[in-house]
Amino acid sequence: MAYLEILGVRKTFGEVVALDDVTLSIDRGEFFTLLGPSGCGKTTLLRIVAGFEPPDQGNVKLDGEEITQMPPNRRNMGMVFQAYSLFPNMTAEENVEFGLRVRGWPAAQRARRVAELFDLIGLSAARKRYPYQLSGGEQQRVALARALAIEPRVLLLDEPLSALDAKIRVQLREEIRAIQKRLGITTLYVTHDQEEAMAISDRVAVLSRGRTEQIGTPAEIYENPATPFVAGFVGTMNHLEATVRDGHDGLVEYHGVRLRIDAARGRDPGTSVLVLVRPEVVEVRPVEEGGGIKGRIHAQSFMGPVTRLKIALEGGDELIADVPSARARALRTGTEVAVTFPPDAPRILDL
Ligand code: ATP
Repeated sequence: MAYLEILGVRKTFGEVVALDDVTLSIDRGEFFTLLGPSGCGKTTLLRIVAGFEPPDQGNVKLDGEEITQMPPNRRNMGMVFQAYSLFPNMTAEENVEFGLRVRGWPAAQRARRVAELFDLIGLSAARKRYPYQLSGGEQQRVALARALAIEPRVLLLDEPLSALDAKIRVQLREEIRAIQKRLGITTLYVTHDQEEAMAISDRVAVLSRGRTEQIGTPAEIYENPATPFVAGFVGTMNHLEATVRDGHDGLVEYHGVRLRIDAARGRDPGTSVLVLVRPEVVEVRPVEEGGGIKGRIHAQSFMGPVTRLKIALEGGDELIADVPSARARALRTGTEVAVTFPPDAPRILDL
């Protein structure tokens, strides 16, 4: 059942179309992420949901109620921003308590709620500290507790981890996810980091230039990107332009080489398609072992369990392949290779 609905929302700033007819439907208790590059409209959409910005067109509904014109303080939503959003002159505890005071909660109830929240974020020992006495990660935990204090109907998070270093980012995103699940709170999360979006979300909307390119679970988006933009933005993807030769057997031709690709079945011969292949499914052999698309390894980077090879294909494209590092020893830079992939691995998009 849709809980938070964004219906045909459009927003312009002068000439800039920040959002162009965006429709999203978010379920109760869902962790939903807006993912896209800088300037695609993520923050604008979050601000419209929060009520800080009116849309030019379209509606926002919460639990069936039209809230497009409702002022932010009546929406009962909690928000966490990038960083430095705590009140600097208040202790951590006073920050968390603030919203409860504004709402006139009695002292005993406030104290109980604040204690619960510090327990939830694992920072009970730091309650009396001021923001400048807390690390960036701790400050963001307190900001999360402050947003949760009022028992919001929706939690809005705008790149809450972007100012933190990589290790803390991963740790805190797992904590946020665990807290969200425990409370069952409907969450709208904004990030430009595709790995973060994949790791944390129930569903993701990929945005580009104010439009939704695809909505789906992380696995759906990773495995079946709907557009070339999504394919390029989410994970590393090889793109090869090819022509369908036989739609019955799923044969396509790439620079004179015939490849069998299951996803090409049912397409008309002569159709131009984009073959999408993840680096981890590419099979690379020395050219003498034959078959497939020929190329030459021109760069290698060791990444631990796998080694990433950059292969200049005959025909001009560059292909990225991640091969087990033990195998990569036989595949040095300069080696002439033949590249194949399992027929069920590539995806196909029409060109
Ligand atoms: P980032 O990740 O960089 O924050 P974003 O995806 O959140 O990007 P938005 O901040 O929503 O993007 O901005 C979308 C577009 O609208 C951008 O081109 C931006 O410059 C423009 N924009 C946003 N707010 C305003 C404003 N108040 N006045 C003018 N233009 C704006």
